[in-house]
Amino acid sequence: MEVNEQSRRKRVARLKKIIIFLVVFFLLLPLVICFILGIRIRELSNRIDELTALLNARLESNPAITRTLPEDETEAPLEEETSEETEETEDVPQTTQHKVYLTFDDGPSVYTDEILDVLKEYDVKATFFVVGKEDDVSKAAYKRIVDEGHTLAIHSYSHKYGEIYNSVDDYAYDLEKLESLLYEVTGTQCKYVRFPGGSSNKVSKVPMSDIIKYIHAQGMEYFDWNISASDAVNTALAPEAILANVTNGIGKYETDVILLHDTGNRKSTVDALPMIIENIRAREGYELLPIDENTELVQHLKIEE
Ligand code: ZN
Repeated sequence: MEVNEQSRRKRVARLKKIIIFLVVFFLLLPLVICFILGIRIRELSNRIDELTALLNARLESNPAITRTLPEDETEAPLEEETSEETEETEDVPQTTQHKVYLTFDDGPSVYTDEILDVLKEYDVKATFFVVGKEDDVSKAAYKRIVDEGHTLAIHSYSHKYGEIYNSVDDYAYDLEKLESLLYEVTGTQCKYVRFPGGSSNKVSKVPMSDIIKYIHAQGMEYFDWNISASDAVNTALAPEAILANVTNGIGKYETDVILLHDTGNRKSTVDALPMIIENIRAREGYELLPIDENTELVQHLKIEE
């Protein structure tokens, strides 16, 4: 009898263990699955960000694409707005009126100092639409941009399309974060903005016109570009090809805003820069300037306010 009792107890104990194990297992299972799915979601959203960035880099770099949308909106106003200046151009020989703006997106990078060295050597002032970086080297780069007379301007703190373009509030959060970092580091209140992907980007979930209204409410202005060096897509692009992309576009408008990139894998942009400057300098009546309050607005998307 006792033997039976003992083995029964053993069986009950084993059964209890199995039940406890199963209960714990089924409690933990959803947690583990959630954890794995969480990681997967994060991976996929990073991938989406990367692909979106790539798509926009392509849009940024292919003027043919970026111009399809804004053509009707931009080109007419561009001509209208310059009518005051055109009057002058009629009197003065045409050659004195071309203003060219070199703009560098996405810096600071390992090449910022080299870019600044070239600009210094040629005594050219440019515009840097920067992203948010808080390391000492990047802070020194922001300072050097300002100290050497270039225009320090806002691109995006995170430059993550998936984060900034969900709502005006998300955009504003990102912009204000960068604005205050740049003010803290340089004492400069930035006034000019370039949207990641441009104002004609197809990624924003909120209408870009709402974001533009927000920008204007801050007393800020945004700039797109009308010439792209196309250095964003193909990092292996030869400096000569970058030069050709730039020079092919020059002269169509009175104001040329050239999109270049200041990122860690754009050595060819740095190498092309002296050639670009020399080419523009060799043209009579062409002036290289940093963006300021006198710069004619070059915008892909214009809105009624
Ligand atoms: Zn960018």
